[in-house]
Amino acid sequence: MILSASKPYLCGMQRDELYRKIVELQPADIEEGLELYKNAPLGELMFIASELRQIHIPGRKAGWMIDRNINTTNICFSRCAFCNFCHRKDSPGAYVTTMDQYRQKIDELFRLGGDQILLQGGMNPALGLGFYCSLFRELKKLYPTLKLHALGPPEIVFLAKKEKISISRVLEDLIESGLDSLPGAGAEILSDRVRKIISPAKASADEWLEVMRIAHRFNLPTSATMMYGHVETVRERIEHLVKLRELQQEKPENSRGFIAFIPWPFQDKGTRLRTESGVKSTYSPAEYLRMIAISRIMLTNIKNIQASVLTVGRETGMLSLHAGANDLGSVMIEENVVSSAGSDRLFSADDLREIIADAGFEPQRRNQKYEELK
Ligand code: SF4
Repeated sequence: MILSASKPYLCGMQRDELYRKIVELQPADIEEGLELYKNAPLGELMFIASELRQIHIPGRKAGWMIDRNINTTNICFSRCAFCNFCHRKDSPGAYVTTMDQYRQKIDELFRLGGDQILLQGGMNPALGLGFYCSLFRELKKLYPTLKLHALGPPEIVFLAKKEKISISRVLEDLIESGLDSLPGAGAEILSDRVRKIISPAKASADEWLEVMRIAHRFNLPTSATMMYGHVETVRERIEHLVKLRELQQEKPENSRGFIAFIPWPFQDKGTRLRTESGVKSTYSPAEYLRMIAISRIMLTNIKNIQASVLTVGRETGMLSLHAGANDLGSVMIEENVVSSAGSDRLFSADDLREIIADAGFEPQRRNQKYEELK
């Protein structure tokens, strides 16, 4: 039996053997991942990924959370080719968020029942480690129960270079000042070939991984991401997943490591990558479901796979829960980076609960550490 009409590298029996290996949680290698991504029928991939989801998280619960994105600043020297959010320091509209604005936004977050902010922004050459440490301390003093899911590996590398200190020292100071968890932002595709085209001024692939390696030694909860669908090859996507899996394998036994993986497609509207280089997003719902399923299949040691309902919308979000995802992310009260490149989707708590229930799952509100909340 040949399962695929396009490139029948594996016969049905061989592919069944590979599926068996995968549901026994034996890691698939790059070639096997490529074979599945390119040639396995989507229905089969979704089925296998759903089986794996049940092994990692038995039952019908699917997670969601409330948090708020607050951007520290939109001034950034990096000028990534996919980003419409960054400004030069003297351009109209450039800002650094004030303490009054933080207060107003966090008060609103608490009124809506959330207690976590995703604090991100540009790499502003004027803002050093001292700025972020004072900001974190001030916010924790004002809101002792507030959780700070803040910055990301590129900012950590930037701060280490700016201050001429080690990555460990930057992380230590930030943790001491109140950093609760580190988002996996800025991973894009962990290939320097790709990074040279889309984000040449940002941390390299190895630097990104090194920050996460050290964060795991500190037992700082982290997440991992991927922004796909631009100039990368499918092999580079699969290699990205294997790099994450290998790094997760290295983490100390008692460390949380990567708590979740979140892939999302490139949003091309108005980006320089699209207007100057003619690179269009390859996004389609079927490709997204394939990405979610292959992520679940390759990442045998990362428990949570989150679908980015903010970027792919309601229907694809629902189907993702049948393709290996166990979480739909957050009611993002404010989001500027993705929305500035073409995503105009925002969801209320009721929307997310309804999407999960309509998909046949039981909505479970959670915190950033993926612990269940009442
Ligand atoms: S994606 Fe982030 S690092 Fe890149 S230009 Fe935009 S704000 Fe700067």
